[in-house]
Amino acid sequence: MSALLEARGICRSYGRHAALAPTDLDVRAGEVLALVGPNGAGKSTLLSILAGALSPDRGSVVAGPGARRVGWVPQRPAQYGRLTPRENLELFARLEGVAQPSEAAARLLRLVDLPDDGRLGSELSLGNQQRLNLAIALLADPDVLLLDEPTASLDPRQRRRFWDVGRRVRDRGGGVVFVTQNLEELARFADRVAVLLDGEVVFDGSIAEYERSPDADVFA
Ligand code: ADP
Repeated sequence: MSALLEARGICRSYGRHAALAPTDLDVRAGEVLALVGPNGAGKSTLLSILAGALSPDRGSVVAGPGARRVGWVPQRPAQYGRLTPRENLELFARLEGVAQPSEAAARLLRLVDLPDDGRLGSELSLGNQQRLNLAIALLADPDVLLLDEPTASLDPRQRRRFWDVGRRVRDRGGGVVFVTQNLEELARFADRVAVLLDGEVVFDGSIAEYERSPDADVFA
């Protein structure tokens, strides 16, 4: 299994508060990696750095040849509140140089099952904002998909759709990282688990190793 992204010695502080100690993490092809740990452990910070949305103070993220495009689904809305979902998707498609932006927007609205009823981004429910975030991340047809607590506001059917999308990225040789607090999702969808505690990776192993670990329930 080859690494799509290699994070080496990543450190990040906010003011004087160290959110990430020197941290290593690989995102591998054909694998779904769950990132777990208590609130404030540094999961979102690490994911934002893997996405290239936040710079580390030290260390680097090296992208392998298989990771040309990285899609990031942040927890907060990534869209323009004054545009409809379709307008948002067309705008991002143009910004990313996607061919045929209108067709791409229509296809992704269908894929994430988002209604196109003229409502603005700011008027969407949290779940629908998450689905629009996912659609925006998928516009570039990513090799690596980074999902920050993607299903927290979704109903079971919408969750399944999210995971179908994640599996598709993995099954065609991409890599998926998702942050979760949900043990059931972890067991069902992850191939590998990394546990962050106070900004450090304290466990990195297969789901079977994680489940055998006596401390597993302490981490999630
Ligand atoms: P997690 O995703 O595991 O909950 P975060 O990466 O969001 O953790 O945060 C790690 C630590 O950094 C926490 O102590 C949090 O309060 C702090 N932090 C995160 N973002 C900021 C920010 N923009 N400004 C100041 N502190 C922050």
